This record gives sequence, structure tokens and C-alpha cells, in this order.
Amino acid sequence: MSRRKKLYEGKAKILYEGPEPGTIVQHFKDDATAFNNKKKAVLEGKGVLNNRISEHIMENLNRIGVPTHFIRRLNMREQLVREVEIIPLEVVVRNVAAGSIAQRFGLTEGEPLPRAIVEFYFKDDALNDPLVSEEHIAAFNWASHQDVDDMIALALRVNDFLSGLFTGANIRLVDFKLEFGRIYDQNDMTRIILADEISPDSCRLWDMTSGEKMDKDRFRRDMGNVTEAYAEVARRLGIMKETGNANGDEAN
Ligand code: UDP
Repeated sequence: MSRRKKLYEGKAKILYEGPEPGTIVQHFKDDATAFNNKKKAVLEGKGVLNNRISEHIMENLNRIGVPTHFIRRLNMREQLVREVEIIPLEVVVRNVAAGSIAQRFGLTEGEPLPRAIVEFYFKDDALNDPLVSEEHIAAFNWASHQDVDDMIALALRVNDFLSGLFTGANIRLVDFKLEFGRIYDQNDMTRIILADEISPDSCRLWDMTSGEKMDKDRFRRDMGNVTEAYAEVARRLGIMKETGNANGDEAN
């Protein structure tokens, strides 16, 4: 495994060349970062949990016809995914006011939004991922109008699916971030598919009864018990049988 070619190392994941052309191995690290890399820590077991949670969600999305890059999980920390050309946008879907939207418009955290809101941010750490409009996306050629329409439609389908999934686990889906990629079909037609990950690192998840945070805000706000909260999300989704022992590296 160590002879594999590393293609990219990000804040929470490493991408390696996959076993066949057009595939990539996505490796989940235990590293956590926030505030554009200013805050860092290693949270033992986080990578294992995010690998499993993202697998569960992507597999179910594939089943309901939302195209994703996910092929199969390889081991505790890795999954095989389709190689895509990443669109340099973060697509955020919000159901409830929290984080930057609450600040921007002076909303109370926890206030339900009148409808699901889809936002685009330009992926650029040096610029602090600025909020952008469809005008910017088209003018700077980050994606076409058709791509934007496809991303919005897919993001809303993911929102409907995830809202139901988490409600069944007594968890409120406040907001989440998606990334999409482009693939080329046989006759050079392009298609947009869901890429990256969906995990408590990229969602805001609140316990429906107590309101307790079960996501990365626990790390951002120094609330402690971060991996324990992620393990509880996994347990409620029926993924991990027990909440403990999330730090294994063994293949399976
Ligand atoms: N998010 C993310 N990566 C980012 C920025 C945001 O995964 O680089 C997620 C975040 O966890 C939350 C949602 O996107 O679930 C909306 O985040 P927001 O714009 O409120 O920014 P924040 O306040 O988290 O910086």
C-alpha cells in the first residue's frame, strides 16, 4: 500500500492513485482543522467514523439514483471512488439558520429557514472561500449554467434524502456542504456527480430532543467529546454496532 502514488493531500483526506484507470483511493485521516487551518488537532478515530458514515450515505444515494463518485469501501480508512474533475465550488444547503448565514443576516441560530437555501462558495483557502453568485460562476467559467442547475437539483435531492435519514435517527439536519465533480462519458459528454464526503465534518447535526451538537462545531467551539459525538451519529444510523473501538486500522 505504501508504494501507491499520492495524488493530493488535503486537510482531512489523502487521495492516492486507484488500482484501475479512472479510480482513486480516498483515505480519511484523523486530522481536524477549522478556521481556515488556524485551529488543528488529531482526533483519534475520526477518519474511521467519517469513512463509514460517508460510505453509508453515498451508497444509499447511489441506490436512489443520485450519482456519486463512491464505488466501495476498501478498509477502515479508505474507499475506492471514481476519478472526477472537481468543480471548485462548495455547495451549501441550509434548512435552519446557523453559522455564517446567521451572522450575515442577523438570524437567530436554530431559526428554521422559510425554505431550503442553496449557496455557492468559491473553493479558495487564500480567499477564505467567498460566497459567490451564479453570475460569478458563469463569468469566471467555474461551471456552466447547466452545471449549476444540475448541482442545485442534486443538492436538493440530497437534502430531502438526508433530512429523512437523520430524522429517523432523531437528528436535525441543520445544514451541510457538498462538492461535485465532472466525469466524461464515452462520447465526451460531461456529467456532474457528487464527490468528496458527507460526514459530521461537513454537516451540522443537532440532537432533535436536546439540541446538542453532534458535528464539527464541537471541535470549532472547544466543546469536547468530538469523536464520541461522531460515533453516536454512526450508532444511530445503524453503522457501528458499538460506540467504542473506532480507531482500528485493520482491513475490513
Ligand atoms: N462547511 C464545510 N466546509 C467549509 C465550510 C463549511 O464543510 O469549508 C459546512 C459546515 O460544516 C456547515 C455548512 O457547511 O455544515 C455551512 O457552513 P457555514 O457557511 O455556516 O460556515 P461556518 O460557520 O461553518 O464557517
